[in-house]
Amino acid sequence: MARVTVFTLGGTISARGGDAARMTGTEVLAGLGVAPAPTGAPAAPSGLDVELRDFRRVPSSSLSFEDLTALAAEVTETVAAGSGVVVVQGTDTLEETAFLLDLLCTTEQPIVVTGAMRRPDLPGADGPANLAAALAVAADPGCRNLGVLVVLADEIHAARFARKSHTTSVATFTSPGAGPLGAVVEGRPRILLRPAVPTRLCPLHFDPSLRVALLTLSVGDRGELLETVAERYDGLVVAAFGAGHAPAWLVDPLAALTTRMPVVLASRTGAGATLSHTYRGPGSESDLLHRGLIPAGPLPPAKARLLLHALLSSGARGPAGYDRPRITAAFAHLDGTGRA
Ligand code: ASP
Repeated sequence: MARVTVFTLGGTISARGGDAARMTGTEVLAGLGVAPAPTGAPAAPSGLDVELRDFRRVPSSSLSFEDLTALAAEVTETVAAGSGVVVVQGTDTLEETAFLLDLLCTTEQPIVVTGAMRRPDLPGADGPANLAAALAVAADPGCRNLGVLVVLADEIHAARFARKSHTTSVATFTSPGAGPLGAVVEGRPRILLRPAVPTRLCPLHFDPSLRVALLTLSVGDRGELLETVAERYDGLVVAAFGAGHAPAWLVDPLAALTTRMPVVLASRTGAGATLSHTYRGPGSESDLLHRGLIPAGPLPPAKARLLLHALLSSGARGPAGYDRPRITAAFAHLDGTGRA
């Protein structure tokens, strides 16, 4: 019988009324009709041995790095013991949890992250269907070796590509520029695509005490926050305009920062890759890269921040500064060009 361990962390899927942190893990599973309950499991795949870990009960905006590194450690132990994993949490930070697990957990077992957009007490609550689909994926041998997956609305997304793209739609998760890897049809996963490369090149760690800032540029930004970054942080991701552009007056301060810490250039647009040599002149992507910034490629800013943090935690940082070639190669590995 296939074994799946379910980690419940809180979120809308476990909400009672407006409070996103109340139900226990047992209530979440039993209430959704997919627990190993005496009444049976109408929406769940049959023949599943489901184990529950009531891990946290918080809105996903309140998950800390300590929570997530503890989760990654428990998930790693669980998959090593031969179980598939489903992580159930709020959707607000779901793509970040999924990507971080993708960076930290090595396994051929499916690791699936899911949640719900509608509370259990609302008409059309999507929690039961999402959990049933996630269990089906986590138990299916055909879903092994795909990296961490995000399953909602019957779609199967790679953690690397998945984005929450709408505040309320049950179809909020999309994979801009890539598309879902597959779908759950009649309760069974169908995988149509596989990522070209695994998410990471080598084992990574995550030190919650490091600080990587994420700065989203907006028109008229005078760059005051860069002074704080210089004083207090170990790295920076800039969510820049368009394909990687900044105001001309921020080029010198950003270039100065690169002498102290890695500065990654991402796009604030929400889809598409940063460019490297299309625009020229002060503040263009080619100018910023020439001045020492590192391209995020297609990785959105929040995920670029997690990758940079994991790299800095894993030896890309030292007394002599930071390992620019290694960080550049790790981002290039995910840019689809087949380099690195
Ligand atoms: N606020 C909720 C959370 O992320 C939203 C959700 O679960 O969809 O915890």
